[in-house]
Amino acid sequence: MRLNDAKFIITGAASGLGRHYAVRLAEAGGQVVAGDVNEAGLASLVEEGKSLPGKIHARPLNVASEGEVGEYVSWANEAMGGLNGLVNNAGILRDGLLVKKDRKTGEVLKMSAAQWQAVIDVNLTGATFIARDVVAKMIETSTKGVIVNISSIARHGNRGQSNYTAAKAALAANTRTWSLEFAPFGIRVAAIAPGMIETPMTQGMNQKARDALVANIPSGRIGEPEDIWIAVRFAIECDYFNGRCIDVDGGLSM
Ligand code: NAD
Repeated sequence: MRLNDAKFIITGAASGLGRHYAVRLAEAGGQVVAGDVNEAGLASLVEEGKSLPGKIHARPLNVASEGEVGEYVSWANEAMGGLNGLVNNAGILRDGLLVKKDRKTGEVLKMSAAQWQAVIDVNLTGATFIARDVVAKMIETSTKGVIVNISSIARHGNRGQSNYTAAKAALAANTRTWSLEFAPFGIRVAAIAPGMIETPMTQGMNQKARDALVANIPSGRIGEPEDIWIAVRFAIECDYFNGRCIDVDGGLSM
């Protein structure tokens, strides 16, 4: 698919990676519907989009709300005059060990159900609902295209991230399952698994933990959103790329 033909929903587009993809697609002449819970971020993205050759539409979206998603997809299809793709990017962290012993009191503490569920709801169930509804709309309108899932190298396992690891590994696994299911309709599914990238998500990390991680990256630096956009662009443009998840991590997960 050519970027200037793209009519894509991008979730989590108000900040970080999703915002970068939205701007790059609109720079290339594509159309974007930006969905996010952060309304102020969406408003500033729409402003930024006004100077670009393509078009950025935006409306608030909570991907974890099944009732909201179907109607949102129909609206996006109308707003862009069609819909041929999704970058399934919205994600949150609620890090913590599954079980830990409090250093001071010796008490054994467990990850709460809420901490587990919040991440599963957004990063896995939300990503699944919107992929389902986008594909349903594409089949209804006989439109070919591509779903790009944003996984993470945490899918290989990462201490303190059971909830996030489970969601991102499942998303990579379903990239294969969905590619098999949707291929008869001319719809590809691909996944990109970023390593450690400079965004508000990683800027919120403890500085010591962040420095230790960066020191372990073979490429010798933290990734930039543009490093991931190059991979997302490949997943959109290469019509023969299907069902696979690529790690883009400067070698960190080797
Ligand atoms: P970010 O926090 O800057 O952006 C995430 C966006 O998702 C935010 O704008 C947030 O408001 C939005 N969001 C959160 N919950 C939502 C919901 N329920 N519905 C809709 N939008 C919601 O983070 P980022 O680093 O840009 O991350 C983007 C994606 O890349 C995430 O899926 C993340 O897990 C993944 N990722 C990031 C890194 C990294 O190092 N930054 C590494 C691997 C994977």
